[in-house]
Amino acid sequence: MEKVLVLIKPDGVERALVGKIIARFEDCGLKVVALKMLKPTKAMVEKHYTDDENWLVSVGLKTKQSYLEKGIEVKETEREIGMRIRQMLIKGLTDGPIVAFVLEGNSAAEISRKIAGGTEPRKADPSSIRGMYASDSYSLADSKQRPVRNLVHVSENAAIAESEIRIWFSEKELHEYTRADEGSQYG
Ligand code: ADP
Repeated sequence: MEKVLVLIKPDGVERALVGKIIARFEDCGLKVVALKMLKPTKAMVEKHYTDDENWLVSVGLKTKQSYLEKGIEVKETEREIGMRIRQMLIKGLTDGPIVAFVLEGNSAAEISRKIAGGTEPRKADPSSIRGMYASDSYSLADSKQRPVRNLVHVSENAAIAESEIRIWFSEKELHEYTRADEGSQYG
């Protein structure tokens, strides 16, 4: 079984969506094995949104592509866009309390990202968390110089989840138990 980290960002907490968001993941069979509310420090968030070159360039590339699709010319390099978004994200995630939790289950990262939906709520599948409970867009976020308000963060894959979980939870905070329906799900 795989683990994945989910963060309900300050916008999700402020909109009182904590219960609904957790339920979406639990309802499809994923098991909550750690959970807490906290106000992250800048140092924690800097570890989470790393200054890893691949991350900076991949976030920048996604953003550049979405601008090009709309015919907007972008002068910044992918890395520069990535750096700018990273700074916004660090500020965004330290703005208020968040809820962090770890889910465990079959293909937990892939399934959780499907439930969360695409990064930009405007385009996210309407049955996903971001599509159902949010409507923000890159262009609106840009005009206000803030990160796109998309309620949740979900680790990109199982390997990244492992290192992200270590940032937010100690070994002692991760629990082992059997969900009553595990037999009918995986037996
Ligand atoms: P995801 O959270 O879907 O994995 P990314 O890792 O690409 O997406 O981006 C991390 C976070 O950065 C997103 O959840 C979003 O809040 C924010 N973000 C990404 N691209 C932009 C952008 N172009 N403008 C504003 N915020 C952005």
